[in-house]
Amino acid sequence: MKAKKTIRKVLVINSGSSSLKYQLFDMTKGERLAKGLVERIGCGGPKDHTAALKSVVEALGCPKDIDAIGHRVLHGGEVFKDSVLMTKANMKKCKALVKFGPLHMPANLGGIEACEKIFKGVPNVAVFDTAFHQTMPDCAAMYAIDPKYYKKMGIRKYGFHGTSHKFIVEEAAKFLKKPVSKVNLVTCHMGNGSSLAAVKEGKCVDTSMGLTPLAGMVMGTRCGDIDAAAVLSIMEAEKLTPAEADTLLNKKSGLLALTGSSDCRDICSKAEKGDKAAELALEMLAYRTALYIGGYNTIIGGADAIIMTGGIGENSSEVRERIINRLGALGIKLDKRANKKSHGVTAVLSAKGSKIPVIAIPTNEELMIARDCVRVLGK
Ligand code: ADP
Repeated sequence: MKAKKTIRKVLVINSGSSSLKYQLFDMTKGERLAKGLVERIGCGGPKDHTAALKSVVEALGCPKDIDAIGHRVLHGGEVFKDSVLMTKANMKKCKALVKFGPLHMPANLGGIEACEKIFKGVPNVAVFDTAFHQTMPDCAAMYAIDPKYYKKMGIRKYGFHGTSHKFIVEEAAKFLKKPVSKVNLVTCHMGNGSSLAAVKEGKCVDTSMGLTPLAGMVMGTRCGDIDAAAVLSIMEAEKLTPAEADTLLNKKSGLLALTGSSDCRDICSKAEKGDKAAELALEMLAYRTALYIGGYNTIIGGADAIIMTGGIGENSSEVRERIINRLGALGIKLDKRANKKSHGVTAVLSAKGSKIPVIAIPTNEELMIARDCVRVLGK
C-alpha cells in the first residue's frame, strides 16, 4: 500500500468577488508562514481570479512544495455536511448551489478552478460556511411556511460562520479540558456580521442566521430578525424591487442605519459622549444577544460555557459588558477588570462563582480550514 503523504504546507484561500485573501500554514507546527490580500480583482487590479492567484504565487516566491489548498466556500446547501476534496463531481454539485449565494459562490468556485490551473496536481479542499450547522434538527431548521418551498427551492435555515463556530468549539473544549463530544456551548461570533450557535455535545443544534446571513443579530449593516410584513410594507410604500429591498436590509440597516456608522468602536465612543442613538443601538445589540443566549442555553439543556469571538467578541469590553450584565438570571456576573483588560486573547470574562463561565476566545477561520484540509486528506 502506498504511504499517505504528510500534509505540511497548506495554502488557505478566501476568494471573494473582488478580493482574494490567503494564508500559508506549516501544519506540522500549526504555524502561519505568510498572509496577504489581493484587491480590486476585475476592477483596476488583476483581471480575474487566475491572474490574482498568479500574483499570490509570486508574492510567496513561487513555492513548489504546497501540499494542499483549502478554500472557504459560502454555501454547501444540504449536500455538503463536511469539508470535501474537490473532484469534478463535487464541483458540479457546488455549481448547483450557486443559487444560494449568487454573489459569493461564483468567486469561491472561481478561486478553486484557478488553483486547479496554477497548482497542477495539488489537492483542493472545500470548507463550507454552512457545514457545521447541518446537524440542526428539523424543528430548528424549518420555517413555518408551506413545505413546498422547502421541497422546490430548498428554503430553510442553513446558518453561516460555521468554520468559526467549529474552531471555537474545539478551542473551548480544550480550554474546559473536555472532549468536543461532551461540551455544551453557546458560541457568539460577533463581527461585522454576527451569529450565535447552540452547540450540544459538540454539535450545532441551532444558529441565528437563516437561509441567508440576514437573520438573527443586529449587525454592522444587516437588520437581523425583523417581521417579514414590515419589509413588505416598506417595499410597497417605497416601490422597492426585491434587489433594492435586499440592499436596504443587508447593506443599509443594522448599526449603520441606527447610528450612521457600522463600526462598533465609533458607536461606543459616540455613546460614551452621550449620543442617544448610539446608546440605543448598543442596547438593542446587547438585548438581542442576551435573548438568543438565554434561548440557546435552554435548548442545549444548560451550557458549560458561553463563548465570545469575532472583532467585537474578542475586543469590545463595552459591548461584552452590556451583554453579560443582562445574563444575571443565568447566575452570571461580570468580572469588570478581566473584561476591561482582555483584548484579542483567551480570557474568562465572568466573575468567579458565576454558574456559567463567559469566555472570550480568538477565532481563526483560516487555521480551521487548514486543519480540515489535513483531516480530509488524511481520511
Ligand atoms: P468581519 O465580520 O468583517 O470579519 P470583524 O470580526 O473584524 O469583522 O469585526 C469587526 C467589528 O469588530 C467592528 O464593529 C469593530 O468595531 C469591532 N472591533 C474590532 N476591534 C475592536 C476593538 N479593539 N475594540 C472594539 N471593537 C472592535
